[in-house]
Amino acid sequence: MGKPTGFMEYARVEAQYRPIADRVHDFADIMMLPVDRDTITKQSARCMDCGVSFCHAGIIVDGSSIGCPLGNLVPEINDLVYNGDIEGAYDRMSREHAFPEFTSRVCPALCEGSCTLGEHEPPVTIKNIERYVVDYMLEHGGIRPHPPIIRTGKRVAVVGSGPAGLSCADTLNHLGNDVTVFERADRPGGLLTYGIPNMKLEKSIVEHRIRIMVEENVKFVLNSEVGLDVPVIRLMNDFDAIVLCCGARNERRLDVPGSDMKGVYTALTFLSASTRRLLGIETREESQINAHEKDVVVVGGGDTGTDCVGTAIRQGARSVVQLEILPPQPTERAENNPWPLWPKVLRTEYGQHEAQELFGADPRRYLTTVREIKGEKGKMSSIATVNVEWISNEGRLFPRPVPGSEAEMPADMVLVAMGFAGPERALIDQLQLEVDGRGNVAADNSDFKSSLLTVFTAGDMRRGPSLVVWALQEGRSAAISCDRYLNGEKG
Ligand SMILES: Cc1cc2nc3c(=O)[nH]c(=O)nc-3n(C[C@H](O)[C@H](O)[C@H](O)COP(=O)(O)OP(=O)(O)OC[C@H]3O[C@@H](n4cnc5c(N)ncnc54)[C@H](O)[C@@H]3O)c2cc1C
Ligand code: SF4
Repeated sequence: MGKPTGFMEYARVEAQYRPIADRVHDFADIMMLPVDRDTITKQSARCMDCGVSFCHAGIIVDGSSIGCPLGNLVPEINDLVYNGDIEGAYDRMSREHAFPEFTSRVCPALCEGSCTLGEHEPPVTIKNIERYVVDYMLEHGGIRPHPPIIRTGKRVAVVGSGPAGLSCADTLNHLGNDVTVFERADRPGGLLTYGIPNMKLEKSIVEHRIRIMVEENVKFVLNSEVGLDVPVIRLMNDFDAIVLCCGARNERRLDVPGSDMKGVYTALTFLSASTRRLLGIETREESQINAHEKDVVVVGGGDTGTDCVGTAIRQGARSVVQLEILPPQPTERAENNPWPLWPKVLRTEYGQHEAQELFGADPRRYLTTVREIKGEKGKMSSIATVNVEWISNEGRLFPRPVPGSEAEMPADMVLVAMGFAGPERALIDQLQLEVDGRGNVAADNSDFKSSLLTVFTAGDMRRGPSLVVWALQEGRSAAISCDRYLNGEKG
């Protein structure tokens, strides 16, 4: 432990966001950088190096996460940071975790939700400490390629280059296998590239990691959808094993009168068009998808909805409202959600803070859903809503419209951020893979093997829509299992 009394001496100090008035005019990182060395040293001193530390447990209890799924060696990293050994801290981080530059930016920090200090005081700023270490290494050119020296001669195809695919490819490559990643998009990264907006994860950060992987001999084949542009049979013949990391891209659609009107877009259509504009590669069709001077209604109060709010604001929306069919989370942990489980509490994220400051109110309208999108000759003018109450029927909850609560608000853009209904079917059907009750590819999390002998799967495609950190964990674990299948037990 860096300083035994640190947690008593120093209060939690978080990294600052850029002032709203500045940041809403650009898509640059929302965080104010850098956090200074003195602050980060004191923050790492707050770590108690607990005997039983849940921050890196990485387990699920009652469907809730406890600690970092990657098993990041948090207390050791904090100790090294306190003692000024930033390179050593990065080295320790890299043992469990290949891409800390992603998690230090976008992870909700499951580790902090389970930090022991959090029982009585605000938890250790584990995510900010990780970010300091990674940014120091990026700035000092300390993140360099390390191609493996020994090659097994085995060839593996990874399908999909989101965090699960990248993590899988990276681990398989470092275990000596020849890895080719097939990606249907024109750039690698999955939702890291065309999902999470630039202000949360700058695309230069993703590109930097891809460059390192290429220099380490991972091959990327872009604009190539497996099952369409690349026949599955070719993959089966050319590779010793396949790992499917195609995500859960089946977006839920709005099914109300008027939902086929111009101006209704799914969240991913909107967010990826915005990123492609930023990268200077938007198509003519994508250039029409712009919230500038529009009244925008986002349907869905989750994180994807919040990214739509933040993006619409940066595009110059006239107003932004976010509808959520569920009630708000409690402000404190509920009795059935004790420490060290991930705290299910109300969070107000960057997009909501921005809307509050610009438009004078939190954009979220809870217990509200859409009845109809109205307009004339295909041109949208308003959205009709109704409040709901949740009623229980045979143990299940259903939303019931509240009579007399019907309302209407102006809208000329509706963004549907209602989540994902699992992975797309085409490739699953071609391979005739077994699926579980939720339509995800069936594979146990002990070996990540699908119902086909040489086919493995990881990430949202196996787990359902989740988080970057879980995708990274699954990709790595699937790679280890695949390597064991190909090359036997090592060491
Ligand atoms: C808008 C948005 C914001 C989010 N923000 C956060 C956040 O801040 N923090 C966080 O932790 N999580 C966030 N998430 C969740 C997180 O991004 C996902 O859980 C994670 O990306 C899943 O990784 P994956 O690799 O399994 O799938 P994906 O990232 O979806 O990648 C799958 C890839 O497979 C490719 N593909 C699919 N089929 C084929 C095929 N047949 N052939 C070739 N390629 C194919 C796709 O093009 C895609 O590139 C967010 C999700 C969304 C939608
Ligand atoms: S639980 Fe919190 S205080 Fe304990 S070792 Fe982990 S980061 Fe440090």
